[in-house]
Amino acid sequence: MNDTEPQPSAGPTIVPRPEHNLSRDGISSNALKVLYRLKNTGHQAFLVGGGVRDLLLGLNPKDFDVATDAHPEEIRKLFRNSRLIGRRFRLAHVRFGREVIEVVTFRSSASGITGDRQHSDSGRILRDNVYGTIDEDIWRRDFTVNALYYNITDFSIWDYTSGMADVASRTMRLIGDPRTRYREDPVRMLRAVRLAAKLDFEIAKDSASPIRELGKLLRDVPPARLYDETIKLFQSGHAVRSLELLQEFDLLRYLFPHTATAINSDQTGKVLKFIYEGLTNTDRRVQEDEPVTPMFLYAIMLWYPILDLAQRIRIGEKSSEIEALLDACDELVAEQQAYTSYPRRFSIPMKDVLVMQRRFENRRGVRAHRLLNHKRFRAAYDFLLLRAHCKETDSELAEWWTEVQTLSLRAQREAFSLERQRSSKRRRASRQERKPRASQ
Ligand code: ATP
Ligand code: MG
Repeated sequence: MNDTEPQPSAGPTIVPRPEHNLSRDGISSNALKVLYRLKNTGHQAFLVGGGVRDLLLGLNPKDFDVATDAHPEEIRKLFRNSRLIGRRFRLAHVRFGREVIEVVTFRSSASGITGDRQHSDSGRILRDNVYGTIDEDIWRRDFTVNALYYNITDFSIWDYTSGMADVASRTMRLIGDPRTRYREDPVRMLRAVRLAAKLDFEIAKDSASPIRELGKLLRDVPPARLYDETIKLFQSGHAVRSLELLQEFDLLRYLFPHTATAINSDQTGKVLKFIYEGLTNTDRRVQEDEPVTPMFLYAIMLWYPILDLAQRIRIGEKSSEIEALLDACDELVAEQQAYTSYPRRFSIPMKDVLVMQRRFENRRGVRAHRLLNHKRFRAAYDFLLLRAHCKETDSELAEWWTEVQTLSLRAQREAFSLERQRSSKRRRASRQERKPRASQ
């Protein structure tokens, strides 16, 4: 493998339409509309990024990104269905129902340009709104395979780096000096892992080798951005491979520090096995188009750290098991916010799901029966199955909860010992009723 640093040359290698396999059939009609409108109004318009890369690989792109020499305000005027977003990068979103086409103006990032570009002390780019030409735009792209420009004018592909060759050899390779590029934006380390996992690519040696050392730069990235990246890492159908790579590069601790500690301090391997099992499930659900939720992902990731903390709270404060679990949930969720933010709309239901794990252990009485109608029952039950599968709880308990759902209401009442409870209550009540009479 050639590991020399790709330096964008003065001009692109232009790959004409007959020499590549990217067909317009793969491009969404909305993205085509945007490309043609720009072209017909005298602008340059290219499909760029993951869309080009995925189409060359025969995959279905998740979204389409367009790069143009039109400025954001011009784009805004050309498309009534557009709005400008972004502070760090100003770009346009053109909306067609549920599909959003991202339209970005070519940007210059030649070093030395001050303009509207700002760096932090660690070299991170804070603001970046200097417009440029396509030749300069290339420097804003992260990996060579993401820097292929498909020209709507003649359907050729413009390749400034080794993009086409790297697609062919399935290699993720940063453009330019990897250290500088990771310092500019540490999230690129996560993108390297995520895209390598998604595409089944190798990360080129030079691009891979600084990651372990520079991972710590992720501490400076806002938690909301890390949250977005985490969701992409673990909910795009390649969570298992993503975790393997995060482990390999020691990056998990910047996303889920308590999980990383739990994995590392566990001699038995059960924590990692549990997480892999959960993520395998998630990947299968994504493949089968079933819904997945961050709530479940975080439950998988935080379960062992929460259990561990709950145990310590219990010993220290002598609280009940459920109280300790609730306190541990609150504490870990609060601490997690500093790494990857975790919206309350997910953390609150997660707490229900985790606490229900303890409630499932009691199978008698009205409270236990009511769990069947709890709005988190399905998720909590799925979590119970996962635990049973990993032998973290009795499989007999999980089987009981599986079975009881299939019973008639009458049989359920029997299973939860409700009849007995009620009749013993009745007996007690009637005994008490009788007593005063007897004393009269
Ligand atoms: P996918 O959409 O499949 O997740 P993608 O590569 O298209 O992958 P997007 O987040 O959609 O990822 O970004 C579109 C393009 O913008 C990328 O292909 C890349 O060229 C550029 N890009 C995105 N994020 C960065 C970044 N952090 N640094 C440099 N370039 C980036
Ligand atoms: Mg994309």
